[in-house]
Amino acid sequence: MTNNNIYIVANWKMYGNSKSINSINKVIKISKSRKFKNVKIIYCPPYTLLSEFVKKTKNAKISIGAQNCHTEKDYGSYTGFISAKMIKDTGSKYVILGHSENRISGETNEDINKKIKSAIKKKLNVILCVGENLAEKRKNITKKVLSYQINKSLNKVKNINNIIIAYEPVWSIGTGIIPKKKYLEFNVRYIKQYLSNKFYKNKIKILYGGSVDSKNAKYLMQINEISGFLVGGASKNSKKFIDIIKKTIK
Ligand code: PEP
Repeated sequence: MTNNNIYIVANWKMYGNSKSINSINKVIKISKSRKFKNVKIIYCPPYTLLSEFVKKTKNAKISIGAQNCHTEKDYGSYTGFISAKMIKDTGSKYVILGHSENRISGETNEDINKKIKSAIKKKLNVILCVGENLAEKRKNITKKVLSYQINKSLNKVKNINNIIIAYEPVWSIGTGIIPKKKYLEFNVRYIKQYLSNKFYKNKIKILYGGSVDSKNAKYLMQINEISGFLVGGASKNSKKFIDIIKKTIK
């Protein structure tokens, strides 16, 4: 990983309440330090906390994102859902799309494609998650899975300037198991190559996600093609999250 603009994204999933907001005080503090000037911290709390997080981080070098959005970009009769417009209205700047936990519960690449287009129309930055599951890895079809997910979810998307890819092997999420360096390097390079051929673009940001913690962050940092981490479990504990951030500084 190079020291240029490292992205560290916290995915809080369905955790956190109004009291947890103060737990990020120390992260706010370090976000302002010169030492971490190349680190871009993005918090993705549950919808209920988006506005609070935006307010809380107003004077910090932290951006806020949602964890999903509806395919419809504005408003509609979709009970229980949130649109890109509503996310934008909270002051959030990012949205995670295509997370495997949503894919597993039925979200298709076509849904993700519509969501990406809605998010782009509302000027949200997208963190698009892709990754193979264990069965696919064992069948040796990871490349096929990645290109399929990318192709379908970016169908007719004209430019990817505001899209960051998070490569998240599903078998690594929440398991404590991380990929071997060679495997990770190979897949990240493959995604990069695939996207640069498709979009004629060089500067593509690819994050790694899956059981990142303070113990393995240094090891994962050795992979040059990675521009940062999407962190689930370890992001809810500020001490652990700060430890990860510190490991990204050489
Ligand atoms: C995630 O949910 O995107 C994730 C990477 O989770 P964890 O860090 O807990 O594996």
